[in-house]
Amino acid sequence: MSTPLGLKHIQAIAPYVGGRPISEVAREYGLDESKIVKLASNENPLGMPKSAQEAMLRAASDLGRYPDSNGFELKKVLSDRLGVPADWITLGNGSNDILELAARAVAQAGDEIIFSKHAFAVYPLATQVVGAVAVEVAPTPQFGHDLPVMLEAIKQAGNKAKLVFVANPNNPTGSYLEPKEIEAFLSQVPSNVVVVLDEAYNEYLTPEQRYDAIAWVKRYPNMILSRSFSKAYGLAGLRIGYGVAQPGLTDLLNRIRQPFNVNSLAQAAAIAAFQDDAFLQAGYELNQAGYIQLTDAFKELGLRFLPSSGNFVLVKVGDDSGAGARINLELLKRGIIVRPVGNYGLPEWLRISIGLPEENDAFIHALREILKSA
Ligand SMILES: *Cc1c(COP(=O)(O)O)cnc(C)c1O
Repeated sequence: MSTPLGLKHIQAIAPYVGGRPISEVAREYGLDESKIVKLASNENPLGMPKSAQEAMLRAASDLGRYPDSNGFELKKVLSDRLGVPADWITLGNGSNDILELAARAVAQAGDEIIFSKHAFAVYPLATQVVGAVAVEVAPTPQFGHDLPVMLEAIKQAGNKAKLVFVANPNNPTGSYLEPKEIEAFLSQVPSNVVVVLDEAYNEYLTPEQRYDAIAWVKRYPNMILSRSFSKAYGLAGLRIGYGVAQPGLTDLLNRIRQPFNVNSLAQAAAIAAFQDDAFLQAGYELNQAGYIQLTDAFKELGLRFLPSSGNFVLVKVGDDSGAGARINLELLKRGIIVRPVGNYGLPEWLRISIGLPEENDAFIHALREILKSA
């Protein structure tokens, strides 16, 4: 037998499993595509803002040229509003790109990267790509990040610790960390360990939950704040996000990113979406209402769910390790796509993205029917 091609640590990577595309589910179950409800990838149920569509169409005439490699216009808009210089910003092909760039910039084989159990699936991927060792820290009883225990893990790892991922809110649990907890954590992480604060769902926080993460970036040269245009801004298909860090770290990220990692359509759309406060507000309100709609139904059905600060809810659909997969299959047959989270170590649970009222309703109706006949 010949030796398999490729590096061992790359062969060991389990591919990312995303939400199933509508067209695929329609083919497999013989359903009408237009009737399918997808609540599986935390996308914005309002779709892309009109302002961004228009900006994108205008930019389309220039697609024969390469995009602006430095994203001057978008960085200017971000920089003005966030109150940081443009050279503190790194644009990414989705914020996923930022997470990977961070790992590639600071860690290599033998190093350790620390994150919580039940945290975002890209953290282990970004760790494995660079051949580093993933240190998965036990969560709190409420499935949240246990920052004091994470801090302990960083200290345990000693000089091998290079990077720690913290998601607030976290996906798939929806858990939220109080700013004072994050602050206490940041002030104790050794200065040679980089902290990525992943705020992909930041815009869904209530006014009472909000805090000033930029102030932390200004204070801690070892911090990268990561934000996305895929969720609240409705641009998931365009792939765009950004990182904010002091110039030292930002310079490293910019050296290793692809020169044209963010395409011109995405840059144009993001400029428009970022300034579209009405769209953001409408999405926020829709999400608040949808959260109540879903969780009221879960209460009525006697299902446990985790309080979520994002645009999705994790719900426990049974007590055995086959429950999530079983209910998911029944939902698929009825044209409802949600996200099984067995790969997150949560096989009894399903993650439901909050949709339009009628989409939430279709899901609740199907779930009720499935549970009744079980
Ligand atoms: C969705 C998500 C992201 C990345 O989204 P992009 O589309 O790559 O911007 C990052 N972190 C978390 C926790 C997410 O759920």
